[in-house]
Amino acid sequence: KRTKIKALLELAPSETQEYTVMGWVRTFRNNQFVALNDGSTINNLQVVVPLGLVDDALLKRITTGASIKAQGKLVASLGKGQKVELNATTIEILGDSDPEKYPLQPKKHSLEFLREIAHLRFRTQTFSSVFRIRHALAFAVHQFFNEKGFVYLHTPIVTSSDAEGAGEMFRVTTLPLENAPKKEDGSIDYTQDFFGKSTNLTVSGQLEGELGATALGEIYTFGPTFRAENSNTTRHLAEFWMIEPEMAFNDIYDNMDLAEEFIQYLIKYVMEHNADDLAFLDNRLKEEEKSLPMDKRNEFGLIEKLQIVLNNKFERITYTEAIEILLASPAYKKKKFKYDVSWGIDLQSEHERYLVEKHFKKPVIVTGYPKDIKAFYMRQNDDGKTVAAMDILAPGIGEIVGGSQREERLDLLLARMAEVGIPSHEMEFYLDTRRFGSVPHSGFGLGFERMVLFVTGMTNIRDVIPFARTPKNCEF
Ligand code: ATP
Ligand code: MG
Ligand code: MG
Ligand code: MG
Repeated sequence: KRTKIKALLELAPSETQEYTVMGWVRTFRNNQFVALNDGSTINNLQVVVPLGLVDDALLKRITTGASIKAQGKLVASLGKGQKVELNATTIEILGDSDPEKYPLQPKKHSLEFLREIAHLRFRTQTFSSVFRIRHALAFAVHQFFNEKGFVYLHTPIVTSSDAEGAGEMFRVTTLPLENAPKKEDGSIDYTQDFFGKSTNLTVSGQLEGELGATALGEIYTFGPTFRAENSNTTRHLAEFWMIEPEMAFNDIYDNMDLAEEFIQYLIKYVMEHNADDLAFLDNRLKEEEKSLPMDKRNEFGLIEKLQIVLNNKFERITYTEAIEILLASPAYKKKKFKYDVSWGIDLQSEHERYLVEKHFKKPVIVTGYPKDIKAFYMRQNDDGKTVAAMDILAPGIGEIVGGSQREERLDLLLARMAEVGIPSHEMEFYLDTRRFGSVPHSGFGLGFERMVLFVTGMTNIRDVIPFARTPKNCEF
């Protein structure tokens, strides 16, 4: 039976006990020292191959990328940074790796290059750290809500609604591409499709989540979400994961408090459980920054940045205040922004990052957005112009959370739907929550990959998901 390297590195040396390990060779030095990794930890186990244990033919097959099985005793190590090493008594090759065709080392590859080569990418220290942290975050998400008594509600992946009204849906259909049945006006007749209507992949589980919350009290959904984002950015994927809590008897302030507590909980969890991976990524960033001019380097290291978020209340401002700050900023005056600023615009990433990184130097929660740039379901404020929306902006990324208090007043909701052109007969299932025992309620969506980006310090969202889906890219 194999022992995982992570567990083995914690053990004390033993004269009697034999251990079996399996993993992939990172390096092989002096025909004697194997640095072995099995993915359970960033750290390698040093396997010592005593002189004469194996013949030359086998020695040649211990190459970077090859998989081996080693058995032996755990002994104290003289090497730096490791307490123990495995003194091998048997070595077996499980799978060869042609060193000519497995160019992981000694050359360091760019993240762009690795994105093209799925199997190599997973074997690197950077990506294995990212995916272990991603796992820890996912686990912490469930733990957080479970501790608070939220019900994990599975919302559907195939739906017939576009919650966001942004028209970024992937259509789901079984109709033939050619010769699809047509209606009299020439448009496709989806009544003849599988579900008897036009359907798409979910862009948000919120509407269904509201049905759950207005009966179960507090729910969250955490699942794959699909948006046909038509541009390539470093923070959008076509397939991403979203965490969406929804709470009855809850207003926009409760909503902000929960989101802030949640983000801090996730960070704390990773700092406690993935210290090695974080230290590696922190160091990686510092090394990378050495090649940048001073003014392009980050003010804080990754771990310092996480500590700032842990130890400070998020700044809370209104959208109107945000616009005022932007208009008064040196960046605006020197025409540094690509997109113009005026009351009514949807804040762009550059604006969000200015507020967080340059102005407040900590995460910012912006509330009270103009209703015209937000979805129909958000609760209208008394001014008639804004809604009880809140976005959380994080350093290095911009928007990480989008949430709101929902419009619980049926008449106002119907009026808003009519204004933006959503036929109410398609939304009866939803409107019923406002007809029978309507309550104030609110919720938010946290983009899981944006959270992973933030915690790992990676800069491109493609590098924090195992298999990225972006425009023109669905290779593996
Ligand atoms: P953005 O302004 O960045 O396009 P959004 O306002 O369209 O985001 P929401 O509808 O508010 O996004 O969704 C809630 C959260 O889901 C966002 O705050 C973000 O963290 C995440 N998110 C939205 N779209 C994507 C995407 N294409 N890829 C990854 N995460 C996303
Ligand atoms: Mg968007
Ligand atoms: Mg947005
Ligand atoms: Mg949003």
